[in-house]
Amino acid sequence: MRIFNTMTRRKEEFVPLIPGEIKMYVCGPTVYNFFHIGNARTFVVFDTVRRYFEYKGYKVNFVQNFTDIDDKMIKKANDENITVQQLGDRFIDEYYRDADALNIKRATVNPRATLYISKIIEFIQDLIDKGYAYSVDGDVYFDAKKFNNYGKLSGQNIEQLQSGARIDIDERKKNPMDFAVWKSEKEGEPSWESPWGMGRPGWHIECSCMAYNILGETIDIHAGGSDLKFPHHENEIAQSEGRTGKVFAKYWMHSAFVNINNQKMSKSLNNFFTTREILDKYEPDVIRLFMLSGHYRTPINFSIELLDSTKSALDRIYNSIINLEELSSKVKNDGILDSEIKYKEHLNSYKQRYIEKMDDDFNTADAISVIFDLIRDINTNVDENSSMEIIKCSLDLIRELGFPLGILQKSKRGSIETEVELLIEKRQKARKDKNWALADKIRDDLKDKGIILEDTSDGVRWKRI
Ligand code: AMP
Ligand code: ZN
Repeated sequence: MRIFNTMTRRKEEFVPLIPGEIKMYVCGPTVYNFFHIGNARTFVVFDTVRRYFEYKGYKVNFVQNFTDIDDKMIKKANDENITVQQLGDRFIDEYYRDADALNIKRATVNPRATLYISKIIEFIQDLIDKGYAYSVDGDVYFDAKKFNNYGKLSGQNIEQLQSGARIDIDERKKNPMDFAVWKSEKEGEPSWESPWGMGRPGWHIECSCMAYNILGETIDIHAGGSDLKFPHHENEIAQSEGRTGKVFAKYWMHSAFVNINNQKMSKSLNNFFTTREILDKYEPDVIRLFMLSGHYRTPINFSIELLDSTKSALDRIYNSIINLEELSSKVKNDGILDSEIKYKEHLNSYKQRYIEKMDDDFNTADAISVIFDLIRDINTNVDENSSMEIIKCSLDLIRELGFPLGILQKSKRGSIETEVELLIEKRQKARKDKNWALADKIRDDLKDKGIILEDTSDGVRWKRI
């Protein structure tokens, strides 16, 4: 497999530190609001990377943090008259609601910054002891010049960065590129005791610290949105490699933005759609398919028209699935026919093509084209004369290729089944409550949908008319 490594700016053969295992850290959300479709792309992309590794048989230790203390958190909590912790609790719950709905697998660990304060203090103390950080009036800064390779990820040296960046002049810093790892207490802000007085951690240090404590000194993959390359990831590298003297991450992956009218979707520009509002109108599969239809390093433009055309494309795949499911309840030939042996091999060649695309730096755009080619092929070649084996093989293959992308896993018939089961339960309850009118209405409504109920001694059975 080849992965584009931001650090070396080229595609490299992927070799994990431990065969068969992957340690992966993805920078997660600041939990002060619902996440928008731009954030969602980053989460979906790295969920897909993880799923594909799992598909290939790797065990993935996947860590994604929650930033639950920073300026935005403090401001929002003050505006809402609640504590920063209450705000964090609320939006972590909301994060899971949307992420689960988007079929994003739960991380192995989702560490919260505020639960790592003592480890962060230890980390900072070690940096001070090693001469990489210094304290001034209760603040602690990282001394960027002490870290020889500062700027290596974004490919600039410290002088270039200094002249290019807009940096607040702060007399207490030794150099403009130095950044805070600990911030002294300000009124109205949550703070913790530390050797430098009451205060709170800076943003960059939390990721270095949590990656170190959960995954170890060197990890396989560190990932995030491309806005994090500088300064966030550059600073993480300086802190982590400053402390351990080891390489922090072997591969750095960055996903491109979701734009609106060629501008980055962001909360500050107020040009965003929350994932929640889009989930209200579109199935999760539509949203994921839309996001994965472009390569993860290419920006995508968001628009409702594009979502609608993605929905039509997805319907084509689901129509094919429904058709195959219907065939499977009709077809009589169990075993594979002689004439089909070659066709089965041909079907499997799509899997090889798909794997080649995904192995090439997760080219989901081309992998999705392979799925559409497969659907076209099945639609023309699999019908009521096909054997059960070919029908099943076609269905399994569509689902298999959908799995790493987190789509095509549900069955349209399956969803009808769940709906019927729920209505039967509701009817049972109505009967128990002697609400005969409601019970009869549910039975009649189901009949209109082509479902009839039979009350048997083993409970209620249903069948299609
Ligand atoms: P935040 O909650 O702002 O810290 O962002 C969480 C993640 O979403 C980070 O990895 C960001 O890089 C990423 N992100 C923010 N805006 C966008 C966008 N418009 N497109 C893609 N990713 C984004
Ligand atoms: Zn981070």
